[in-house]
Amino acid sequence: MTDTSIRCDVAIVGSGFAGSFIANELSKQGVKVVILEAGPGVQPNFNAFMKTFYEANAKVPESPYPPAVLARGKLIDPKNVAAGRPSALTTGGHSWKDPSQAYLDQSTSPRPFKSTYERLAGGTSHWMGLTPRMVPNDFRMKTAYGKGQANFPLPDWPIDYQTIEPFYERAEAELGVAADVAEQHFANMTFSAGYAYPMPKMPPSLFDQRVAAAVAHLTDDQTRFLGMGAPITGLKVVSQPAARNSQPYRNRRACAGNTNCIPICPIQAKYDPTITLNEATNNGTRLIDHAVANEILLQNDRVSGINFITYGHEGGPKTGSGRLEATVYVIAANGIETPRLLLMSKNGGRTPNGVANSSDMVGRNLMDHPQYLAWGLLPKPVFPYRGPLVTSSIGEICDGPFRSQRAAFRVSLGNEGWNSLVGSGQFGPDPHVTTLDLVNGMNCSGLNGPSGKSRALFGNDLKGTLNNLVTRQFRIAFPVEQSPDPNNRVTLSTSVDALNLPRPKINYDISEYTRRGVAIAFQMKNLIFKQLQAVDFTARAPGDPAGFDETIEGKQVQLTYGGAGHVMGTYRMGLDSKTSVVDAWQRSHDHPNLYLVGSGTFPTVGTSNPTLTLTALALRTVQDIVLKLRVVKS
Ligand SMILES: Cc1cc2nc3c(=O)[nH]c(=O)nc-3n(C[C@H](O)[C@H](O)[C@H](O)COP(=O)(O)OP(=O)(O)OC[C@H]3O[C@@H](n4cnc5c(N)ncnc54)[C@H](O)[C@@H]3O)c2cc1C
Ligand code: SF4
Repeated sequence: MTDTSIRCDVAIVGSGFAGSFIANELSKQGVKVVILEAGPGVQPNFNAFMKTFYEANAKVPESPYPPAVLARGKLIDPKNVAAGRPSALTTGGHSWKDPSQAYLDQSTSPRPFKSTYERLAGGTSHWMGLTPRMVPNDFRMKTAYGKGQANFPLPDWPIDYQTIEPFYERAEAELGVAADVAEQHFANMTFSAGYAYPMPKMPPSLFDQRVAAAVAHLTDDQTRFLGMGAPITGLKVVSQPAARNSQPYRNRRACAGNTNCIPICPIQAKYDPTITLNEATNNGTRLIDHAVANEILLQNDRVSGINFITYGHEGGPKTGSGRLEATVYVIAANGIETPRLLLMSKNGGRTPNGVANSSDMVGRNLMDHPQYLAWGLLPKPVFPYRGPLVTSSIGEICDGPFRSQRAAFRVSLGNEGWNSLVGSGQFGPDPHVTTLDLVNGMNCSGLNGPSGKSRALFGNDLKGTLNNLVTRQFRIAFPVEQSPDPNNRVTLSTSVDALNLPRPKINYDISEYTRRGVAIAFQMKNLIFKQLQAVDFTARAPGDPAGFDETIEGKQVQLTYGGAGHVMGTYRMGLDSKTSVVDAWQRSHDHPNLYLVGSGTFPTVGTSNPTLTLTALALRTVQDIVLKLRVVKS
């Protein structure tokens, strides 16, 4: 067992998007940076992840990446994993409430928090790569829509769209975003004069084009349920900004269109943060992997060091410990692991509520974009399972006066057929499930005839039926804005991991405001399906713990939500140190040399996937850190 003491200018915990960008920017300026990363380091051979994915029985987002979730077909007890993480296999079904199966302790939570993340240098590389900007009113929900929100107050951010706009441009350059500015001018979004995204947009898929034609002409009567405040007589399907190369960019290849963006792009045409992390280490950042930060140390009101534990094997045990000392400290460990670390930091009882927590807001207001997923069959083929997972969306209905009453949503069009939507995971994703159904006379997909009449096919019958069905599959996702709720919370569990550290305990529910948003998304689904003349196969699994019922147009409807992977809100930004954890620069109100970065600082979440915004905020925070370092040195 070794005891290590390391000194640097800036100590960072976590090498995901936020940590990697801050490290790289600072290293370029000659700042001495050290990153502690709980997971294994950047793997020299990306193909090793691909091999693990090919061989995995359950093809979930986590499959390619360590640590293993399953051993001999059974879930590994997270108390035997050194740096664990949630898995899509344990955020629903029977296992979500059982801490001996699920990493997150949700044993007393009313509903499941369904999002996951990774423990790997580079953070959550299994992201989809979608990078829409937040729209101006997302930053001013109280000012714009606060009057009607007595029961579900949504605060303003301490910054506005204009403040973040230049950093969006820089983040888009770093991530390599492909999109068309002309299509992004909805919901009052502005761009600097002559701005162009780094790459042209991805071409729309056949399905995108089919939906575009279907919703181009609508009547005011058909769209009144949206509550946009003005007649809507047509909707535009536009290209979805994404960090995915539509042409070669910064020594990476153009997308080859094989629909594998989640969990892994085999050719790194989709940006992932190992790219920036490698740049940072080339620029002088030191990355210490297999190193779990377990306590932030305080001297008076300043952070004086971070203790960490090292391990060798993913099942533990601890192999050593160390202390990292710096002038400035940045915690970039994501919306669940950052509050966990802050709450674990008790300083021998001097900070019983953890560090940076004088407001008691650390861990509170956990949010996601609960996703309503719908799937169906079109009358004519669109040949899915080709192209990136998403190439187009409908964004223009994500803002409007309805936001004083209900949550907003976007419409995201999928190109991957029914992959991951049908079956129980037992048979893998589609088209596998449908194929097995037709070969064996089963009906997990719902496509093999009415109940009791499923057929077992072979030869030309099988080929023809498969071609007919699989080519007409489609899915649509409706990511819904979630309102902040202080009772939705990350605290510390009595269940521990293999390093004997308390795991995160989650309390999570969705508010009436959010549920109303899901209900309107359901109506939007019905409108689109009707226009497409599609057969609806959307179904809620029996006993779904995320399920809830709403009365819509006089009928009781079964609804549910999935996780978007967006972990937000748990150390919110604000002007008032009594109601927020960090200021507009993501600096702790309590400790002047501590920055908490990532989407945990979002006071509200709009409907945009968070990574572009958290990257832009991280780039902005670098400016403040550099100023701080200059003051110390002068
Ligand atoms: C399936 C899926 C799809 C997604 N798709 C999109 C998308 O299309 N668009 C989008 O904007 N977002 C998407 N996301 C969300 C996106 O992945 C996150 O917003 C992003 O990864 C957050 O970056 P981060 O740097 O804050 O945290 P992370 O990427 O989670 O990185 C945090 C790092 O900190 C390390 N760490 C944690 N605790 C400690 C500790 N105590 N000591 C040392 N190291 C520690 C972790 O191991 C990890 O490497 C998706 C997520 C999922 C799960
Ligand atoms: S479609 Fe294939 S090549 Fe393109 S980004 Fe997705 S995984 Fe990578």
